[in-house]
Amino acid sequence: MRILKSGDRGKEVLDVQSRLRSLGFDLGTDGVDGYFGDDTRLAVLQFQQSNGLVADGVIAENTWCELVESGYEAGERLLYLKIPPFRGADVLMLQRSLNCLGFNAGPEDGIFGPMTERAVLDFQKNSGLVVDGMVDDSVLKLIDVVTKDGEPHSDEGKIPDRNGGAAGGRTLDRCTIVIDAGHGGDDTGAVNSAGRCEKDVSLAVATRLSRALESAGARVVMTRESDQTVPLYLRPATANTARADLFISIHMNWSDNPRAQGAAAYYFSRKGYYSEAGRILADAIVASIAEAAAVPVMPAMGRNFAVLRETEMTAVVVEPCFITGEGMNDRLDDDTFASDASEAIFSVLADYFGRQ
Ligand SMILES: [Zn+2]
Repeated sequence: MRILKSGDRGKEVLDVQSRLRSLGFDLGTDGVDGYFGDDTRLAVLQFQQSNGLVADGVIAENTWCELVESGYEAGERLLYLKIPPFRGADVLMLQRSLNCLGFNAGPEDGIFGPMTERAVLDFQKNSGLVVDGMVDDSVLKLIDVVTKDGEPHSDEGKIPDRNGGAAGGRTLDRCTIVIDAGHGGDDTGAVNSAGRCEKDVSLAVATRLSRALESAGARVVMTRESDQTVPLYLRPATANTARADLFISIHMNWSDNPRAQGAAAYYFSRKGYYSEAGRILADAIVASIAEAAAVPVMPAMGRNFAVLRETEMTAVVVEPCFITGEGMNDRLDDDTFASDASEAIFSVLADYFGRQ
């Protein structure tokens, strides 16, 4: 898709604006006029912030998908398991309600997958409805009645995670881990004042990490092994196809302010749902990098990034440092930082899964 940003004009902008307005975002005095001005940018930023997306005021693939999916209301279409799966706000509401009622619909990712279908079947069986996995009016009406009269929706509930918050007693030598080096090829990622690119540092850390995991006996799949372009949505798809136990994406942080320093990590979170396993892992990883590589630690953050949402397993995005941080470029000149960071991540994974 074409990326839409300030100053753009046309039918696509009109489409974005009408979607934003129907979701209740304020487009200011100009309204839906087909011009991407300041008011539209502000509305996009607000939409991104309220959906856990990177708030850059630009409509690229991930924000566009979320915008389309946010528009579906419960009951607007018949939901059931199909390929490719139904996605959207209506699926999210269904998953949230089923989880609230104690039927395990899996991660609240807004994607109607096999776990959601199983929860629907369970719900139908328990309610004396036709057990066919189709979310029709009879299912929706009953869910509505039960959730309104029963347990109120809580915003920060402890909801069953895809792995129940733990790795399930597997050791590293029985795991498949997908390592995703961020960006690559035409997409350089962030670039610091010395011209060093995020894509190269990410690959250096990812390569070291994957070697360490392989020598511990893990099966490792990398989404890229060289400086090549990999589409955003292919990255989680690779992990899903490999039936990975864990997805780790390596990026580098950046800021206009050279004083910004520190290790950051992100786990899947969206509208009150968060991945407990992801949070535990992300927290442990930032702490470990901070100690090994002597950088400040930032608390793990819940985000709705495409790679975190689309992956069917526990997933974490790690940013070991700000490549724009003061003095950081010198530290990236030799391999010390990349190896310290990758060893720090490795030791967390070894503890998390257990060594053989
Ligand atoms: Zn990045």
